[in-house]
This record gives sequence, structure tokens and C-alpha cells, in this order.
Amino acid sequence: MRGVVSKILLRLLGAALMLGANASAWAVDIQALHVSTAADSTRLIFDVSGPPDYKLFEIGNPDRVVLDIRAAGFSTGFAAPAGKGLLKTLRTGKQGKGDARVVLDLATAAHPKSFVLPPDSRNGYRLVVDLYPRDKAAHDAVKSVTALAAKPRNVVIAIDPGHGGVDPGATGSSGTHEKDITLAVSRELKRLIDKQSGMSAVLTRDDDTFIPLKERYQKARIAKADLFLSIHADAFASGDARGSSVWMLSSRGATSEAAHWLADRENRADLVGGVSLDDKDNTLAAVLLDLSQGATLEASGSVADEVLRALGRIGPTHRGYVEKANFVVLRSPDVPSILVETAFITNPAEEKRLSSPAQREKLAGAILDGIRNYFRATPPPGSLFAATAAREKPERLGGRKAPPVDTAAFAADDPDREILARIPKS
Ligand SMILES: [Zn+2]
Repeated sequence: MRGVVSKILLRLLGAALMLGANASAWAVDIQALHVSTAADSTRLIFDVSGPPDYKLFEIGNPDRVVLDIRAAGFSTGFAAPAGKGLLKTLRTGKQGKGDARVVLDLATAAHPKSFVLPPDSRNGYRLVVDLYPRDKAAHDAVKSVTALAAKPRNVVIAIDPGHGGVDPGATGSSGTHEKDITLAVSRELKRLIDKQSGMSAVLTRDDDTFIPLKERYQKARIAKADLFLSIHADAFASGDARGSSVWMLSSRGATSEAAHWLADRENRADLVGGVSLDDKDNTLAAVLLDLSQGATLEASGSVADEVLRALGRIGPTHRGYVEKANFVVLRSPDVPSILVETAFITNPAEEKRLSSPAQREKLAGAILDGIRNYFRATPPPGSLFAATAAREKPERLGGRKAPPVDTAAFAADDPDREILARIPKS
């Protein structure tokens, strides 16, 4: 979610730079480093042999970011890449007894954010350091809070075709596999979304491969998705169960997931709503996670309602309300997530419908209608939807204006002071 809440969380703790204090016994090999640039940031991805225990800090005059990785060394094949974007040059060395140090010389003052990606089917552990220009970060945060972004962005929808590869999902009486239907519906939905102005879609899989559930929502978070949408086709023992249904995470599921996030070191090093929980004490981390999750569940409920209503206009729904369950795939703490059971693959009439490209287009069109209605009603800050809403209903923005802030506690040139000053004093 790139909503107001996450922006505030992000900037509120943006100044916290010390990450990872727990001791780990194992030595970590730094195997490779990839540098890439985006429109407003520079990303460094370190391939590492295990979960890194690291510290990240900034030094001025000249502007540098220093990364220390505990009990770590560089693999023999490691080559420092050339500078790119905000990274001018890069130096590596030893620090203290057996720690590795990487010094990033910056082209211009930049603010680092970092997180650790757990291994997936293709990669091992990765430490990601993103560099954002200092001035722009402050500027963006203020702009997004006042919903006056100059260049509106697309909302990003991550579409997750359920099952795949060795996991075929449910099978209909004519032998149709759920994994093929979910991929076909998802591709159709992506095609329709990408034709819309202000919207774009990414797929968690675009072929017949198996992807673990956690990796699916990780992909959505990496894509900075505004919405995660998992597509399935239902199954039931009797062939006459019918209709589409829409699911969201139960609050019980969210609570148990919160416990995991707080307990799991890898999760805590990851960003939630743009903020790393890793360096927060338990109470503060729990409050931040709760804030983010509460907003996310509420958003998931709204989008689920819209999609269910839109599906109800083209065919039967299984129940007249949004259902809740503890689905792993819906557990992102900061990306609104829903699961759509398009129809019953075990119902021969619906199996036939799911197998027809024309019917799938109608289905995808209804899901798109629901999503679009949601983003019109709740436009994410900085998006084209927000810009359109601001043009059509300027009075609506009145209530969102930032309150007057007391910035006395912060240096005049501290880009965090605008947002830091908004932390309610308890
Ligand atoms: Zn399924």
C-alpha cells in the first residue's frame, strides 16, 4: 500500500538508520552486487550466502553511505561494479575483526532504505539497499500528503494466478485444470487493466510454474502494488455448487501473522508500509504493524465489496457477502489483498463458462469494474485517480490537508521534519 498511512510511517521513521543488532554466529559470504537505477532511486542488491546482520549509516562531507555486515567477507569472485545513478563509486574493505565494510560514495546527498529478501526458487538471500535523493524524498512526502503530486502515477495491481506447475489446483469433470483457468483469466485481466489510463498490472506468474505462496505476495510487495488479487476457481464435492465469491484475510489471520512478523527476524528487516521494523522495540513495532494492518484490512474489505458487487452484476454469487479466511497468500501487512473464486470448476456449466475466452473476458471485465470503483472512491496519494478526484471534487481534499506543524524540534534543513512533526504527542 502506498497510501497516506504508509507514507507517514515511512517518513516518520525515515531517519532511523541503524539496522540489525542481534548477533549471528555464522559467517556470510558477499557473493555479488548488482546496481540498477529507477526514475528516482538507485538500487543495490547484494547476493549473500546467509541472512546478513548489518548496520547502515550516513556520513556527510562528502556524502557517503556506509554498510557494515557482521562476520562477513567477500567471495573471491566478487567484483565491485561501476557507479551508476546516485552511486558515484564504491569501495570495499574489512572493518574491525572480521566484518565487511562497503562505502558508497554518493553523487548527491541520498537517504538509504534497506531490507532483506529471503531465498526464493531462483535466488538465495539478498540484501537490498535503495538510495533516494534527500531533497526529493522530503518533497515527495509533502506532496503525497497533500495529494498534489505533479506527475500522477499508475496504480499497480498484482494479479496472482492461483496454483501452477506441479500444483494443478481443482479439476473439473471435463478435465479442466484450475491452474490453466486462473492463468487465462489473469492474463485477460492484465490486458484489460493495462488498457486503462492510470492503471497497470503485473502477474506473479505468466507461465505454468509452481510458486510458493509467500513468494507470491513478496512479488506484489516488491512491485509496490496498490492491490494484490489472487485468482482461483472453486471446487466442491457436489457438482451443483455455483457462483463466484470474494475473500479477504480474517482479522484472526492478521493477528497471527502479526505475531510472526514481530517474531521473525527476516520479516522485521523487511519494510512494512515502507518502514523497517527491525530496529524498533517490540511495542513500537507492534503499534506500527497494527496501524498498517488495520488500514490494509479496511482497504481489502472495501475492494472486496466492490469486486463482489461487480461480479454479482454478471452472474450468480455463491454468497451475498465477502468471506473471510486465513489464506497465506493474503497476508501482506501493507498491501490490500483479496482472493476471487471466479466460479465453481466442479460445476459442469461453470466449467464450460470458465473455458470460454468470451466468458473469461466478461469475468475479467467485471473484476476490473470493481477494482476501478474502489480506486475512484479511495484514490492512492500521487496516483492519476487522486489527480482526477482532486480536479472533480476539490472540496474533498480540504479534510486531508496537513495540519499546521511544529517544526521547532528539527533542524531547518532536516527533510524529515515535516512529517516527524506530525507524530501525535501522547
Ligand atoms: Zn485454488
